[in-house]
Amino acid sequence: TSARKHAERWVNSTCGYCSVGCGMQLGVRENKVVSVRGNPHHPVNRGKLCPKGLAEHYAIEAEGRALYPLLRRDGALTRVSWDDALSTMAERFRAVQEKHGPESIGVISTGQLVTEEFYTLGKLVQLGIGTRHYDGNTTLCMSTAVAGYKRSFGSDGPPGAYQDLELADVILLIGANIAENHPILCTRLEANKSKTLIVVDPRVTKTAMMADLHLPIKPRSDLALINAMLRVIIDEHLYNESYVDAHTSGFDELRSSLEPYTLEYAAGITGLDEPLIRRVAHLCAGARAPFIGWTMGVNHSTKGTETVNAINNLALLTGSVGRAGASPFSITGQCNAMGTREAGFSSSLPGYRKFESEDHRNELAQIWNIDASCIPAARGLAYPDIIEAAVAGRIRALWIIGTNPIVSFPNIDVLRHALGNLDFLVVQDGFHPTPTTELAHLVLPAAIWGEKEGSYTNSERRVSKVNKAVNPPAEARSDFDIFLQLADKLGCREELFPQWQRPSDAFEEWRRVSSGRLCDYSGMTYDAIESSGGIQWPFTATSPDDPSSTRRLYADGHFETEDTRARLIPTHWAPFPEQPSSEFPFVLNTGRTVEHWHTRTKTGAISILQQLSPRAWLEMNPTDAVRLNLKPHDRVDIVSARGRVNRVELRVTEIIAAGQVFLPFHFAETNANQVTQSAFDPISREPNFKQCAVRVEKSPTA
Ligand code: SF4
Repeated sequence: TSARKHAERWVNSTCGYCSVGCGMQLGVRENKVVSVRGNPHHPVNRGKLCPKGLAEHYAIEAEGRALYPLLRRDGALTRVSWDDALSTMAERFRAVQEKHGPESIGVISTGQLVTEEFYTLGKLVQLGIGTRHYDGNTTLCMSTAVAGYKRSFGSDGPPGAYQDLELADVILLIGANIAENHPILCTRLEANKSKTLIVVDPRVTKTAMMADLHLPIKPRSDLALINAMLRVIIDEHLYNESYVDAHTSGFDELRSSLEPYTLEYAAGITGLDEPLIRRVAHLCAGARAPFIGWTMGVNHSTKGTETVNAINNLALLTGSVGRAGASPFSITGQCNAMGTREAGFSSSLPGYRKFESEDHRNELAQIWNIDASCIPAARGLAYPDIIEAAVAGRIRALWIIGTNPIVSFPNIDVLRHALGNLDFLVVQDGFHPTPTTELAHLVLPAAIWGEKEGSYTNSERRVSKVNKAVNPPAEARSDFDIFLQLADKLGCREELFPQWQRPSDAFEEWRRVSSGRLCDYSGMTYDAIESSGGIQWPFTATSPDDPSSTRRLYADGHFETEDTRARLIPTHWAPFPEQPSSEFPFVLNTGRTVEHWHTRTKTGAISILQQLSPRAWLEMNPTDAVRLNLKPHDRVDIVSARGRVNRVELRVTEIIAAGQVFLPFHFAETNANQVTQSAFDPISREPNFKQCAVRVEKSPTA
């Protein structure tokens, strides 16, 4: 429990940071949240919370909350009424569309709204405003996993459950530092005493330190490693032949594609010994229940989607999809990244329906009582492509909701150029100023976690209730209310959201929209979600099982493809796009720390977290530090072909291999994205945040 003050009442809710989805209780006194504690009855965390969760309520009262709508007049952001703010927004959007076409508007959202808000926003943007160019900051973290699942299994959706971490006999984590980034999930590793834990990561992370086998691969060589394991498993006939025959397609093509991936070839690419690669292949193939988890080490790569497909190939060859303890499991980033994936409107239509499918569009048109021709037949631009279109002048107005791209988007100069090109920029956020709100023409103050109602879906597809404990400050409003009030101004509220007043109205429609789909909510009610502590989808009105029971996807071997078979997909390793050179000899890796969240808009305003982790650091191997005549705590500059990060504190440590350096990305003052590059996965459009070439220089004395 965090600093305990005497609460007058406790409100059940769900943590608003990461995708583990811990159940919480918020202690309220005199309309303030004075304390939080883990919900002992919640199936995810069983009462535990990590440092971020324990301090989450401090964000509500923190300095820097956005309090009033602000409109830029004569160069300065000036307080205006909500009526003025939303009328201006509607007028400016319509004026831009009249001049430059309906699709000259872009919208970038976040993974931190409630699902009811995503669903409402998607309808508003695509059917009310009338642009397809809508995406989330989830494209900076999870679009690769989505694309990989769709290609292999015919639909998005992690097949497994957290319980699998306790049931698996072999756990293979690839590019996943869950001890730091998903700490409460990591406690399940501790609980499983009979597992063999294998961690694949170029750094000796906290998670790698827990491993039975740490594979310190060279940066971005994971795909070559997995393909070599697949080849061993096929060549030595270790695969589950009956499962492969009955439930997959593409085996022969996969086998041919693996021809180059000899142990010798993979050893050269990964830097691992050949017997070690073979041993790991045998461990996975011989396991009773192999669990394969991954996060950003895989996703943040121009080869990310292919790597996810290779992981899925491994799970399919070993017949390990949807079995207790065994699954290819993408551990999501944000608290409701899954909600954006299900509720759709960016890479798919709601309920994982396909834009391209006339049947799917007709289904939705019938539920929404609109003409099917109003529903787009192809997705709009992904986040990086919206930014490129703004640079090119094709996107002329942008609405950014709950995200801070000036810190989080790669190669920040490109983004600044894009935002500088816009006729109108609206930023909706719980905090102001942020580096992004400072550039806006209009700032809309939003409620944050603790101040609004709805639901989140966590990484294991568990839908948990989010409840309002206190009112938002001053004139801030919930995102849900802002969306409906903008719909009023645009004249589309009655058509799109008839009679809607509360998030529960959106939830009721979403239950009908999701009915019959993989992410079926039709059997869920707010009361059932509350009383069970969260329900995994699919949960239909006729689901025979207890709502709180564990559900896995594809346990019957039937997938969401047309022939119900999963696809074995050939994949090919390639070096990362910007290799080190004599001018830029280090590979820069970026990542997180347990105390902070994203760009620190919230956690940077929380004193205890700031004290625990006040500034960024650069990790460098001792051999490199000696060569460059650098000492621990020196201040260094990090320089790439695109820019420079100044005055970062040096940590000299063997956690990082020679030739590599690591910088956390949270800190605006030492923004890693001043040096990262504009390179994206061609399938998912996710940025290659994890590798770029830099040099390190001692900073000039201040
Ligand atoms: Fe919140 Fe994630 Fe920490 Fe749980 S592990 S308390 S969901 S930040």
